[in-house]
Amino acid sequence: MDASSQKESLITHLKREGYLSSSRVEQAFRKIPREDFLPASMREHAYSDHPLPIGSGQTISAPHMVAIMTELLEPKKTDKVLEIGTGSGYQAAILSPLVRKIYTTEFYPELASQAKKNLSRTGIKNVEVIPEDGSKGLPAHAPYDKIIATCSILQGTFNLLGKQLKEGGILIAPIGEPHAIQMLTTGRRTGGKLKTKEYFPCVFVPLRQ
Ligand code: SAH
Repeated sequence: MDASSQKESLITHLKREGYLSSSRVEQAFRKIPREDFLPASMREHAYSDHPLPIGSGQTISAPHMVAIMTELLEPKKTDKVLEIGTGSGYQAAILSPLVRKIYTTEFYPELASQAKKNLSRTGIKNVEVIPEDGSKGLPAHAPYDKIIATCSILQGTFNLLGKQLKEGGILIAPIGEPHAIQMLTTGRRTGGKLKTKEYFPCVFVPLRQ
């Protein structure tokens, strides 16, 4: 099967399972080539629904996790988004047609520079990769409409990131101890406070701090 048929069958699977629920996010999955965000040795697995190694001991999230997190973020064309954990750049690339601007921070300089290459090869212009520690968020461009952490964070970091949200803004992150089972959690800033909702257990690589 060629890449585009593999991609269509992945999209069918993600829709059938209910991970992809909006046509906007579905179109973003159709538009962005996941193979372009993988090391050459992993490309043949681009459209299997699994996390894959991308170097520096890090992973690109599984497509279903990208779909779920993107849908929960309720992306709007006017949104300014912060991502903690660029990795390959794929999650930011999926968000790129759905929002106005994405700032994404990556701890490892070699991953950040590879992600920049991946994004520019795909012709993406509204993602700014910042090769810095994102454990304190990114106050320089705050407040954000949406914040997504694609590495696991502790409750204290979740609360800190919540302070960089606009009123009505949404934060999504896996909360929990490193190398343990975490809980995918959203927070919506309402009246200056974070209204949180827990979804399901998951395992992400930890935030370095
Ligand atoms: N969103 C990525 C997957 C990220 S994996 C993708 O689509 O491919 C989590 C990433 O968080 C890793 O690349 C890891 O290096 C990064 N990370 C860990 N601690 C960080 C920190 N303190 N600041 C910024 N990025 C961090």
